[in-house]
Amino acid sequence: MNQILKHAKPQKSNSDITVGLPSSMMFYAHGELWEDFFSKLGCHVEKSGPTSREILNRGVSLCSSEVCMPVKVFTGHVDALAKRTDYVFIPRYISMGRHEMDCPKFCGLPDMVRINLHNKVNLMEVDIDFDKGTEKTKASLGSISNTLGIDYETVKNIFVNSVQNKLDTDMKVGSVEPGIKNMPSIAVLGHPYMIYDEMLSMGLISKLKQKNFQVLTPNSLTRNVRRSHLPIFKNRNFYELGSDILGSASAFLELPQVKGMIYLSPFACGIDSLVTEFIERHLHNTEKNMPFMKITVDEHTGEAGFDTRLEAFLDMIED
Ligand code: SF4
Repeated sequence: MNQILKHAKPQKSNSDITVGLPSSMMFYAHGELWEDFFSKLGCHVEKSGPTSREILNRGVSLCSSEVCMPVKVFTGHVDALAKRTDYVFIPRYISMGRHEMDCPKFCGLPDMVRINLHNKVNLMEVDIDFDKGTEKTKASLGSISNTLGIDYETVKNIFVNSVQNKLDTDMKVGSVEPGIKNMPSIAVLGHPYMIYDEMLSMGLISKLKQKNFQVLTPNSLTRNVRRSHLPIFKNRNFYELGSDILGSASAFLELPQVKGMIYLSPFACGIDSLVTEFIERHLHNTEKNMPFMKITVDEHTGEAGFDTRLEAFLDMIED
């Protein structure tokens, strides 16, 4: 779509329209960009805030038991926002770069949420599909232009400046590892919406810091580093998040200050069932003897049991 669309203004002015951003899933990586995007479109932005037990339980009650835990949690966040916003924004992440795909659940997220909430939520969507360029993504902005009554060229320009250019910068940054200190470190592996969600991660990062470990995550490495360490896994892993974690595990193995790795995996994640297996085999085949612990978290995981496993793991490292 490349023509300027003219639409009737919605009944409310844009400053009276509240767009909800769920504080979950890829909003851990790109939430600030989307907040900037909608603010510049003149909308009021409301976030759902940290995951609570209530949000988790609500998501679990709305979704099929077979869905992975993060999708249940995300649905709980959307449900919380649906009651107090005009629209909830859910980007449909399909591909972040050439020859890479996102998890199929990301591709179908708006549809799954719509069904799980019985169509009782007004969604705004955009397709993020950069595998074959940017045209498809830009064309999908037409629905936001329609909904808000803002001409298409304006929406597109704000998207390019607030979101696309910043994502491009993230993809191209150099291969220097920024900010990693030479002190005993634990690598925490997993999806951003697991390891940075205080509730789902049971505060793992804070607990490790309290024990005076530097915590390294895939975000501690540039994308170039994560990708340049992938080939040792022989076959190309085309899911973006899986590639990030595989490459990170391999890169962390080369850092002498990394004393152990913890993989925090949500119950029923299809990608993790392969990625954790690859990492375990890879570690097994090296001479480094890197301590590795995989913790699978679901809605029933108790913090006491989690802490006991963590203590035992750290005891092993410190001995
Ligand atoms: S990567 Fe795993 S946890 Fe994330 S949405 Fe896909 S299946 Fe769920």
